Amino acid sequence: MRFRPHPAGWHPTVLVLVLAAWLATVGNLPLWHALWTLHQDHAIGLFPAVTSFAAVLTGLLAGTLCLLVWPPWRRPLGVLLMLISALASYFMLAYGVVIDPSMMANVAHTDPREVRDLLSASMGMVVLAGVVLPGIWWWRQPVRRLPARRLARQQTGVGALALLIGVTALWSGFQETAALMREHKALRYTVTPFNVLYGGLRLGVGASAHAHVPRQIVGADAHVGTRVADAAPLVVLVIGETARAENFGLSGYRRDTTPGLSQLAAAGRLSYFPHVQSCGTNTHTSLPCLFSHLGHAGVGREAEYDNLLDVLQRAGLTVIWLDNQSGCKGVCARVTSISTRVGDDPVLCPDGECHDEIMLAELPQALARLDPARAARGTVVVLHQMGSHGPAYHRRSPPDAKAFLPECTESTLQDCPADTIVNAYDNSIRYTDRLLRRTIDWLAAQSRPTAMLYVSDHGESLGEGGLYLHGMPRALAPTQQTHVPMLAWASDTYLQQRGWSTACMNARASDAFTHDSVFHAMLNLAGVHTRLYQPALDPLQRCG
Ligand SMILES: [Zn+2]
Repeated sequence: MRFRPHPAGWHPTVLVLVLAAWLATVGNLPLWHALWTLHQDHAIGLFPAVTSFAAVLTGLLAGTLCLLVWPPWRRPLGVLLMLISALASYFMLAYGVVIDPSMMANVAHTDPREVRDLLSASMGMVVLAGVVLPGIWWWRQPVRRLPARRLARQQTGVGALALLIGVTALWSGFQETAALMREHKALRYTVTPFNVLYGGLRLGVGASAHAHVPRQIVGADAHVGTRVADAAPLVVLVIGETARAENFGLSGYRRDTTPGLSQLAAAGRLSYFPHVQSCGTNTHTSLPCLFSHLGHAGVGREAEYDNLLDVLQRAGLTVIWLDNQSGCKGVCARVTSISTRVGDDPVLCPDGECHDEIMLAELPQALARLDPARAARGTVVVLHQMGSHGPAYHRRSPPDAKAFLPECTESTLQDCPADTIVNAYDNSIRYTDRLLRRTIDWLAAQSRPTAMLYVSDHGESLGEGGLYLHGMPRALAPTQQTHVPMLAWASDTYLQQRGWSTACMNARASDAFTHDSVFHAMLNLAGVHTRLYQPALDPLQRCG
């Protein structure tokens, strides 16, 4: 095969291979960037990872393109693929997102105003370098005319060979690649253009499936109780990240990692629930589960039903989701959501990534923007924390919140002395304590009735039994990964209005609960009545 254009032009298949090479390298900068980051943060071997991914990706891309790109539509399809890769790469690098089905759903639901907000000079540069210039080159290449049958035979042959190489590379490096993919699920969604095609396909299949099976309405009878309707409450649900009960001061941990909350608890003003098990051992499982009326029994089927936020909204409450993490996993799809993860606040967002207190800073403005008529019926705010997200625990607390030193600042936890890992982790818990205490103090200063519920999404292993991080299958997971802190607080105004007391809030504090209880506790806290409510699961059941 010639690699210089024949006087009569390129062999069509060679051009397809050139396109595959372009997409595998320049078109996949986020993937290579992600591997580089993993190499730095997790000590994955760079060379084996890159060669393995390069062989798999190039083989699969070349194979797929050989089957898809034929002379009649070669030009437009090539430019389209360049456009998809350039835009996907731009958004992944600029916003730190990955292109999964829910992101494709976001894209599909984007309105023109949002598009205008996204346009920028840097995006223009990316389109120029990634689409316009290579596109012009691509469009202008002369191509030899070959008999159709001969071209079909040659190109499918080359395609099959490329696929074989890709699959063989995948197979031979399977152990490492599979482990890497399992540990870092986001990685698979950075592989362009397969991520876009997969997401689009899933979206299409999902949409056509939904066309037949609409999302089931649950809690159609939901309404705000009369006592609550008089003065609209503001209820904040804080979803913690990777906080385990074992290192929570309120659980009796040897260190005081929760000084602010412990002070309230000592005064009898805070209800701590020390026996709570998480639904899953990762965010992706726990987050939808926390908001599902089916709880743990409905894992994987959450999208088929309305969730807690839909029920609250239908009852007339306004719901806002503030996200300082990687998104709400579809839970906030039908409510107002604001991402605070990236910002320019010099104190709260050093190097661009924001500490969790940014959500508290944003909250008053977010509330002020609400439709007053609607907000008067009550508001539920979800704060989705970055919490103790690892392995870079030391980045989860600002310098003035670091009570335990020295901290592990290595990207590879295994290289650090065990106590420095725990120090960094404990500082992140202590920072969560600060966030929760400041949220409570802010809520206490409001004139309307206010309440807060906090629960962590799952725990974390800090090296016990050689295990780090989280994500073990739940049945096998050590208790550190599933035993999570949960607590509730209500303002004086709230207690008065509802006729509650701290005694009734604490009445079930020694009972065992799971994430299943959050759905029911939130209905109760928000004052929403529905037949979905199961008192037995509600830690605040004794308040009535
Ligand atoms: Zn998580």
